[in-house]
Amino acid sequence: MSHISFIGLGNMGLPMAINLAKAGHNVTGFDLSDAALAEFAKYGTAAVSIPDAVCSAEIVVTMLPAGKHVRAVMAEVIATAPAGALLIDSSTIDVASARDVALYADRAGFAMLDAPVSGGVGGAAAGTLTFMVGGPDAAFAQAQPILAAMGKTIVHCGEAGAGQAAKICNNMILGISMIAVSEAFALADKLGLDHQKLFDVASKSSGQCWSLTSYCPAPGPVPTSPANRDWQPGFAVALMLKDLALSQEAATASGADTKLGAAATAFYEALVEQGHGGRDFSYAYRALSEAK
Ligand code: NAD
Repeated sequence: MSHISFIGLGNMGLPMAINLAKAGHNVTGFDLSDAALAEFAKYGTAAVSIPDAVCSAEIVVTMLPAGKHVRAVMAEVIATAPAGALLIDSSTIDVASARDVALYADRAGFAMLDAPVSGGVGGAAAGTLTFMVGGPDAAFAQAQPILAAMGKTIVHCGEAGAGQAAKICNNMILGISMIAVSEAFALADKLGLDHQKLFDVASKSSGQCWSLTSYCPAPGPVPTSPANRDWQPGFAVALMLKDLALSQEAATASGADTKLGAAATAFYEALVEQGHGGRDFSYAYRALSEAK
């Protein structure tokens, strides 16, 4: 069993850290929020600072909001963690920050992985997350049993930043496909076509995709989808916008042509401006079906 330091005990980090503790690891947690720390203290050791959290860590996991937080926290971790500790960042951040931080870590003698996740808060609590991992082979091999305590599917995507690249490419597909399915259901409404009939056809035809079959944005066909509970998240519009913005940042930096990604970003941006950032991202259908 390992000494693990977990920094960032938010909606995702807290259940992930709890699963590591339940798997028998010696977990020390740190967060700026006293409430998060108090909750974690029921399962592991609550630290008072980053140096306090990492001083005897063999592995440090971070789960933070964005690239600027990861840069700041990892700088402190690199300055205070024991030599040889493995650093794993599971936050969803920009590819450039992931590569920069991995480079600083490498120069200071630390192996580092970017290991963003999909599966949401439910997957974090159930220990069924998918990890997309970037970094050296040896570090990946060392991390695998740790990640397996928090997730079900673990894919080594390549060198530093490859995990973040896989995450934003996947979520760009998701953001676009949710709008495509939503437009189809909104059009079906105008044409007098029943939701269930469109679902029965498209789910068995070439229009089939996850946004349709697992997460149908129109009420009715998929009982578990947020559309049947007034589009409560789930995966919020604001989080989808964050990931799409990262995809567009990466597209601009790399010269990729992502016209539909850009259009999807503008679409979710408008939903946030209209006050729907806290709705599930499948609210796309509701917004489109209300459009004149
Ligand atoms: P969150 O805001 O609930 O948690 C982030 C935590 O980091 C907060 O508790 C905050 O206090 C803490 N924090 C910020 N700066 C810190 C610092 N300097 N030191 C210590 N703690 C600090 O966010 P979340 O929903 O848990 O998401 C975390 C990451 O996971 C994000 O990058 C997000 O994009 C990604 N993600 C979220 C979901 C989801 O469904 N929520 C799904 C997949 C990926």
